[in-house]
Amino acid sequence: MSNFVAMKVIYNRFIPFGSYHGLNLFGTIFVQRKWGKMEAHELNHEAIHTMQQWEMTYAGFYLWYIAEYLVRLVQYRFKTEKAYYNISFEREAYANEHYPHYLLHRRPMAWVKYLRQSS
Ligand SMILES: [Zn+2]
Repeated sequence: MSNFVAMKVIYNRFIPFGSYHGLNLFGTIFVQRKWGKMEAHELNHEAIHTMQQWEMTYAGFYLWYIAEYLVRLVQYRFKTEKAYYNISFEREAYANEHYPHYLLHRRPMAWVKYLRQSS
């Protein structure tokens, strides 16, 4: 791991459901075994989410995540994938997952600036 966010990955058969590859719950990542081992950029993506969760004190992260998803659903006329990719937490994570040292330079609450940038 190239950054300082300690993470535990639990490979399993059931979580998360459907076509989602990973689910980050309080810094523990659940991945269905069928998707294989997580790659470096996927781990970095989840580490970015873990950092977002810390600074939003977990509950704030999940509440904001769901609320923004609902807003994006309306904004993008119920295209679920488009809504998901445009949640600002996801925008920040996807934009920076390929920079291994991103979290070392990241400013607190950096996701806020992604509220207004659409992809
Ligand atoms: Zn994500």
